[in-house]
Amino acid sequence: MKRILVTGGAGFIGSHLCERLLKEGNEVICLDNYFTGSKTNILHLLDNPYFELIRHDVTHPYFIEVDEIYNLACPASPIHYQLNSIKTIKTSVMGAINMLGLAKRIKAKILQASTSEVYGDPEIHPQKEDYWGNVNPIGIRSCYDEGKRCAESLFFNYYSQNQVEIKVIRIFNTYGPRMNPNDGRVVSNFIVQALKGEDITIFGDGKQTRSFQYVDDLVEGMIRMMNSRKDFLGPVNVGNPNEFTMLELAQEVIQLTGSKSKLSFLPLPADDPTQRKPNIELAQKELGGWEPKVQLKEGLVKTIEYFDQILKQY
Ligand code: NAD
Ligand code: UDP
Repeated sequence: MKRILVTGGAGFIGSHLCERLLKEGNEVICLDNYFTGSKTNILHLLDNPYFELIRHDVTHPYFIEVDEIYNLACPASPIHYQLNSIKTIKTSVMGAINMLGLAKRIKAKILQASTSEVYGDPEIHPQKEDYWGNVNPIGIRSCYDEGKRCAESLFFNYYSQNQVEIKVIRIFNTYGPRMNPNDGRVVSNFIVQALKGEDITIFGDGKQTRSFQYVDDLVEGMIRMMNSRKDFLGPVNVGNPNEFTMLELAQEVIQLTGSKSKLSFLPLPADDPTQRKPNIELAQKELGGWEPKVQLKEGLVKTIEYFDQILKQY
C-alpha cells in the first residue's frame, strides 16, 4: 500500500484520480482549498478509512510523509483562472515550489499536471512535446500558461539540481462527470445550455478546434506515467487526438440531448488558441501502449447523464 498525496483532489480530475488510487488499494490524502473544487466531488469517498481530506492552500508549505505526490492544485478554466490572475500564478509557481520542496525532503516521487496551454496558440499541428510553444507572456491567459511553464521549469530544475524524482504530463482538454457546471469550459457550458434549452454560446466563428479526452483515459495515463521507468521524466502529452471544431461539438451535444437550443455567436476571447491536437506517440511508447479508449460520443453521453442529474437537484 502506497501513501499518495493528491493536491487539487476535490476538483474534477482530482476526484476521479483519488477514487481510482483508492480502488487500487492505496492510502490517499486529498489536499484542496475548495476554490474551484467541492466536497460533493469526494463525498462518496469520505467513509473510506484509507481516504483523508485536508483543507490547505498550496501557496503555503505543507508537511506530510507520503510516497508519491500528484500536483493538480490550480484553477483550470479560463473564467476561474482569470478571476484572480496573480493568485493563479502563485498557485502554479509557489504551489510547485512547496510541493517540490516537500518531495525533496521526504524523497517522494512527484507528478505535475501541466497543460497543452504551454503550447499557447500553436503554429505546429499536431503538437509534439519538443515544440516550445507560442504564448503571449502578457496576455489574459498568461497567468495560467506562464505559471504552468514556470512550474515545468521548476520540476526539471529540482530534478537536475536536487535529484527529485519528477514526472510531467501535458494534459489536453479533458471532460467528464464532476466538471463544475459554472466554470465556463466549453463541454460543460454546451451541455448545461442544451439541457436547459438555452442558446449555445459559440465564441468567434466556432471554427477553432480542440481535441477532447474523457477523464477515465486521462487518469489511466496519469497513473501509468507515475509508474513509468525511472529515467522517463516527460513532458509527455496525454490527450485524445480526435479533433473537433466548436461548431461540431455544439451539433453533437444538441443531437445527443435532443435539445431545441439555437446557436448564439459571441466575440472570441483574446488569445484563444485556433487549433489544438496532441501527438501522442511518446505516450504510446513510454506508457505501455496507453491510448484513449473513450471517443467523444460515448464520453458525452456519460457526461450528459451526469449534468442531467445534477440540474434536477437545483
Ligand atoms: P478543477 O478546477 O476542477 O480542479 C482544480 C482543483 O485545485 C480544485 O479542487 C481547486 O479547489 C484546487 N485548487 C485551486 N487552487 C488551489 C490552491 N491554491 N490550493 C489548493 N487547492 C487549490 O480543474 P481540473 O480540470 O480538475 O484540473 C486539475 C489540474 O489539471 C489543474 O492543475 C489543471 O491545470 C490541469 N489541467 C486540466 C485540464 C482539463 O482539461 N481539465 C487540461 C490541462 C491541465
Ligand atoms: N468556447 C465556446 N463557448 C463557450 C465556452 C468556450 O465557444 O461557451 C470555446 C473557447 O473560445 C475555446 C474552446 O471553446 O475556443 C475551448 O474553451 P475552454 O475554455 O473549454 O478550453 P481552452 O480554451 O482552455 O482550451
